[in-house]
Amino acid sequence: MSEPNGLLVNGCTNCHSRYLPRPGRCPRCGSDRVSPLRIPARATVLAATELSVAPAGFATPHRLALLEASDGVRILAVARGPLPALGSVVNVMRDADVYLVVDEGTPVASPKPP
Ligand SMILES: [Zn+2]
Repeated sequence: MSEPNGLLVNGCTNCHSRYLPRPGRCPRCGSDRVSPLRIPARATVLAATELSVAPAGFATPHRLALLEASDGVRILAVARGPLPALGSVVNVMRDADVYLVVDEGTPVASPKPP
């Protein structure tokens, strides 16, 4: 299940960077001209790992994936299912303060070029 309305991010109207919502000024240029916007809740898996010791409140093994959504927004997400494959495209959703990989991912022919 993906979020029908996409992921909420912050967009800077000065330098046009996009990043996950956080208080304060743009982390890239320091502008206060920041506004909320939505991007598609799809992201490419850049890295994934499995931890044998989980933080409090999380199941073991604890699987984490570094994702890149549109406009270069990077997200550290928890994968409750299998470890997603590198280069695959997954759906992502926000659950309170945690981002979740909500499907195993679709294998792609080749990773996205840098
Ligand atoms: Zn900026």
